Amino acid sequence: MTGPHEESVDVAVVGAGLAGLACARTLAGHGLDVRVLEAGDAVGGRVRTDVVDGFRLDRGFQVLNTGYPELRRVVDLDALGLRAFDPGVAVRIDGERAAVLNPVRRPTALASLLRLPVGGARGKLALARYVAGCLGPSAAPIRRRPDVPAAEAWRVAGIPPDVVNGLLRPFFAGVLLEQGMSSSRRFTDFMVRMFVVGLSTVPGEGMQRLPEAIASGLPEGTVRLGARVQRVLPGRVVADVGTVRAPAVVVAADPWTAHDLLEPLGGAEPAPAPHGVTTVYHAAEDHPGASGLLLLDSASSPVTSTIAISKAAPGYAPPGRVLVSTSMVHGAVLPDPDGDEVRRTLARLHGTDTSRWEHLATYDLPRALPAMPAPHPMRRPVRLGEGLYVAGDHRDTSSIQGALVSGRRAATAVLADLGLTT
Ligand SMILES: Cc1cc2nc3c(=O)[nH]c(=O)nc-3n(C[C@H](O)[C@H](O)[C@H](O)COP(=O)(O)OP(=O)(O)OC[C@H]3O[C@@H](n4cnc5c(N)ncnc54)[C@H](O)[C@@H]3O)c2cc1C
Repeated sequence: MTGPHEESVDVAVVGAGLAGLACARTLAGHGLDVRVLEAGDAVGGRVRTDVVDGFRLDRGFQVLNTGYPELRRVVDLDALGLRAFDPGVAVRIDGERAAVLNPVRRPTALASLLRLPVGGARGKLALARYVAGCLGPSAAPIRRRPDVPAAEAWRVAGIPPDVVNGLLRPFFAGVLLEQGMSSSRRFTDFMVRMFVVGLSTVPGEGMQRLPEAIASGLPEGTVRLGARVQRVLPGRVVADVGTVRAPAVVVAADPWTAHDLLEPLGGAEPAPAPHGVTTVYHAAEDHPGASGLLLLDSASSPVTSTIAISKAAPGYAPPGRVLVSTSMVHGAVLPDPDGDEVRRTLARLHGTDTSRWEHLATYDLPRALPAMPAPHPMRRPVRLGEGLYVAGDHRDTSSIQGALVSGRRAATAVLADLGLTT
């Protein structure tokens, strides 16, 4: 911002998370002068990485699924140095640990899947049918399905309770950040599709490389960091560092701040309920695992998921050390993230002594995801009125894919209103 802390641009965007960046990228690509005002000290929003003693700590464990259709529109995936996790998970069934690997990626895993001591032949067939119903040439039919809670969809599909409780629930708890499985089946079906066709990865230097890569395609000076927006008015955005005037304003803040900023203008929808998670990072001197497999535990465990992440992504730890990332979905009672109970559980899951693991950091994220209770519209309006738009995962789905799509949709609406659509 120049002069008396006031400037005029074509479009002002509030927030440099994935949605704001994707929106700005499309708009700048059409030659518009865009200013992105970001309260934080870097781009990325909920996708940030801290470097601590040579370890890369994502602010909450998350993965980049290469199947997301929107990713390739905004970023060159090859430039991110992606590191893939093993294509599957380890679950605990009847006290035994079992690897459940994606047979599309690892055909040799099919035999062990058939031998899993859950579901019986019928149950396995019901699960296979369900998964097949999420594939097909395009994701569009999934968006049009009548929506019910995921748990209900699985019950109607005849998937037996032991498969749900032993496999689907532990897996989706870490995706939806809820144990009740009341989230939209449209979204869980879409994610089933993504986990079959895509790989779960992280950029070799941390998740923040994703928003940085999108931002690097913007003209210099587009993003203004350390600029917290206090008010949004028609044609104007007032930040603590000054005012930006623009005929089009896109609010791409997190869902809860977006609600607060939009409420005075009327028409703001109720803010979504948040789903929270706590991620704790430990450093180990060594680890028995050969690779990076996500380990899941049952709903009654304090640990939702844990992984020796640097086994898959060596850049996450300095040489000779191992970084372990453990997530705990917020529920009724949250355990001490580095307490005895959690360490005992980690010892059992990782099959090693954890008493000497060094605690590196804990990220407590009560507002990690906006809830998506069924029925969840996969596309919420992004045009709120004359010159006012909203983007963010809460307009689509609570995911990287959803945030990116919402940004593009908001940009497309701006372009259409400005008569710039080709
Ligand atoms: C722990 C965790 C795990 C996740 N795991 C996955 C996963 O595995 N896979 C997946 O697909 N998705 C995952 N997600 C979800 C995904 O990260 C989010 O859906 C996505 O990043 C949201 O992007 P956004 O741009 O909509 O919002 P945000 O990232 O919240 O961006 C909003 C931006 O607006 C800024 N802002 C807020 N208020 C103001 C203001 N007043 N003025 C200026 N700027 C402001 C914020 O600083 C922020 O940069 C996870 C999220 C978390 C937190």
